[in-house]
Amino acid sequence: MKLEQLVRPNIRDLKPYSSARSEFTGEASVFLDANESPFDNGFNRYPDPLQFRLKDAIGALKQLSSEQLFLGNGSDEAIDLLFRVFCAPGKDNVVAPDPTYGMYEVCAEINNVAYRKVALGKDYALPVEALLGAVDEHTKMLFICSPNNPTGNSFPVEAIERVLHHFKGIVVVDEAYIDFSSQLSFSTLLARYPHLVVLQTFSKAWGQASIRLGMAFASPEIIAYLNKVKYPYNINILTQKHALQLLCHEEAVREQVERILVQRQLLAEQLAAMPIVLKVYPSDANFILVKVADANHVYRLLSAQGVIVRNRNSVALCEGCLRISIGTEHENAQLIEALKAMEL
Ligand SMILES: *Cc1c(COP(=O)(O)O)cnc(C)c1O
Repeated sequence: MKLEQLVRPNIRDLKPYSSARSEFTGEASVFLDANESPFDNGFNRYPDPLQFRLKDAIGALKQLSSEQLFLGNGSDEAIDLLFRVFCAPGKDNVVAPDPTYGMYEVCAEINNVAYRKVALGKDYALPVEALLGAVDEHTKMLFICSPNNPTGNSFPVEAIERVLHHFKGIVVVDEAYIDFSSQLSFSTLLARYPHLVVLQTFSKAWGQASIRLGMAFASPEIIAYLNKVKYPYNINILTQKHALQLLCHEEAVREQVERILVQRQLLAEQLAAMPIVLKVYPSDANFILVKVADANHVYRLLSAQGVIVRNRNSVALCEGCLRISIGTEHENAQLIEALKAMEL
């Protein structure tokens, strides 16, 4: 299918806002075009609307060209923009496994787009046939979060590729947790699948949740549509500068990921050995899903001891489950201690 047939007609025809800074190309020293303050305080100018320097650095790291890169105010911005580019409100729908990351459904509702949930299979497997069966002529996007939140498992590459082969709308593969996973990123398959969008974020392994920086990788055509719809200056200068610095210290991030992986293994073993824990699900992410007999009760007792975990008891297929982020060695020890206190 041609991409133009997937894009909302009004977006296809949209003439985007053209900022002063994006119209001018060349060398200049007197900037009287954007009604900024002329007094230099380091922040008086609007930031680069397309974040060229930052995209060069990220592109080098991810082995992608800048035209394949979109940067957003968190990957949540990219999710919302994808709805606004591809889904006509009140008409189109999207399909996603259930349970998965909650923002897909929230964005669907905000945009008045029907959200079709398909239950995960046994052991939280990707239900490929059922997902494809839920698709109709108004299905514009299909979301796959791998490793999946809140279950923690990755889906096999072959299963995701089967979806890519059979669904001709936009396939969004959310890789927020890919750095904790043993799987390869789908970003290496962009050339093969022009309808693939890969999402990654600085919020998890990079340890930068507060700067709000997310990434989408896709064909230059799809990226151009995201750029057309985004706010002109969506990434502020503090975030752009900070991220550029950060990219020079990639090995420190890798080291932290290694430490999380060691703690994940340790925590999984300790939890599995506790009578209060009925099941520890395998994790490819920086959290573990754990089944207990009475999740609400355990959640309350943990909270009372100052330990906050995510109660997933009311989520489909997660009855009795708590989602526990991997903390520092000390924090994880406090969690174990608080759980042991309950067993007395
Ligand atoms: C945490 C998370 C994100 C990250 O969102 P940001 O807006 O980049 O902080 C995206 N997808 C999933 C599945 C997540 O769990």
